[in-house]
This record gives sequence, structure tokens and C-alpha cells, in this order.
Amino acid sequence: MSLVLVVEDESAIAELIAIHLRHAGHEAVLVADAPAAQARVDERLPDLVLLDWMLPGQSGVQLARHWRGEARTRELPIIMLTARADEADKVAGLDAGADDYLSKPFSPRELMARIRAVLRRKAPQTLDAAVELAGLTLDPATRRVSRRLGEQAVELKLGPTEFRLLHFFMTHPERVHSRAQLLDRVWGDHVFIEERTVDVHVKRLREALAPAQGSGLIDTVRGAGYRFTAQGAGVSVQREQMATAGKATA
Ligand code: CA
Repeated sequence: MSLVLVVEDESAIAELIAIHLRHAGHEAVLVADAPAAQARVDERLPDLVLLDWMLPGQSGVQLARHWRGEARTRELPIIMLTARADEADKVAGLDAGADDYLSKPFSPRELMARIRAVLRRKAPQTLDAAVELAGLTLDPATRRVSRRLGEQAVELKLGPTEFRLLHFFMTHPERVHSRAQLLDRVWGDHVFIEERTVDVHVKRLREALAPAQGSGLIDTVRGAGYRFTAQGAGVSVQREQMATAGKATA
């Protein structure tokens, strides 16, 4: 399930979109202008924003551009909604950083298809598709995790938070995620939860992966955060030590 923020001042359209979003299993939050949208985003990062171009006060394009300029919201998936079907407007919307652009009137089916496509590309951890990486299989539909070791598959037991954390890591591998980013994307709360909560759950996740020799799939990157790596256990630690040793002899 994903959280979709709908920024639309025409309440009839917003309500209609919300009905379709909820029907498709998304959570919908409706706001009618840019300041309200910003306040919501400050509170909790949505998985996707449907952003109307023409808003009272600050326009949707200005808001999209602002979000693209901020580290926290740079990757926020945005679909721009507009009553203007001009090619030039479409270009301006995409230039402002929108991931997709939809002209009104649009069919709910098309909107849902576009949302799925953008989520698949930018927020696959919100979808139900099974993920396979480093011999590890995670299936959100059945909530099962297993790892293939030689001939056999080892079934793993994970708590709900560790499951979400692993799902996020596996859909965003080989990249370093700071604790603040993980709180935003996995917990949905970067304000009231302490960063060391992340450390506690990473530790639990490593323990849960241990029966399948998977603890080393999650690297600690000192001063930066955590990274899921399919390169195998301990490789990057060795690399770090070699780098340090290299510096010492230089
Ligand atoms: Ca409008």
C-alpha cells in the first residue's frame, strides 16, 4: 500500500481521484494548496504526489521545482495534473521535475496505470511484486522471505519492521541510505522517531538473515548509513580495511 498526496483545489475532482485511489488499495490524503501540501510533506513523505498545475497562490509547477531542489524531496515521485493540453506546458511540467504529466479530463484507469508505472520505477517497495536478489526472495503478497543456499531454500522469520526494511533495501540495492532517509521511506516518520531506532532494526534484520548466511548483505557505511549489497558478505569491509591499510603505508 502506498500513500498518495493529492494536491488539487477542485474538491469534486480531488474526491473522485481519492475514491479511485482507495479502491486501488492506496491511502489518499487531500490538500487544496501548496502550503498545505508542504506541511503534509514535512510531516510524512508520501510515496507519490498528484499535483495540480493551477492552484491558488503558488502553482503546482513552482512547488514541483521547489521539491526537486530539496535533498529530502528530490526523488519524490510526482505526476502533474493539468487542464492544459499544450505541448509547451507538458514540457514545462516535465522540466520542473514531474515524472509524468496527465491532461484533464483523464480516465481513472489511465491515472491508475500512470501511478503504477511511476511507482514501479521510483517506489517499487510500495508494490506487491516479489523481489529476488542475492539468492534472497521476498514476497510482499505472502509476506515470506527465503534464501536459496545450494540445493535448499532456507525460510526466514522477520518481524513486520524488518520485513519492510528488507523490502526497501532489496528494491534500492547498492546505494547508501542515511538513517534519516530510512526513517522517511520505511517508517514514514522522520520527526518523532530517533535515528538509533534504525540501528536497532538493522541489527534485528541481520540476526534474522543469519540462518541463511545473509547478515553480510547489509553493510554499515560509517558516517553515512546502510547499504544492501549483493556483492557478498564482508567484501566491502575488507575493501575499507585495505583502503585504510593503503593510507597507513602511504
Ligand atoms: Ca486547479
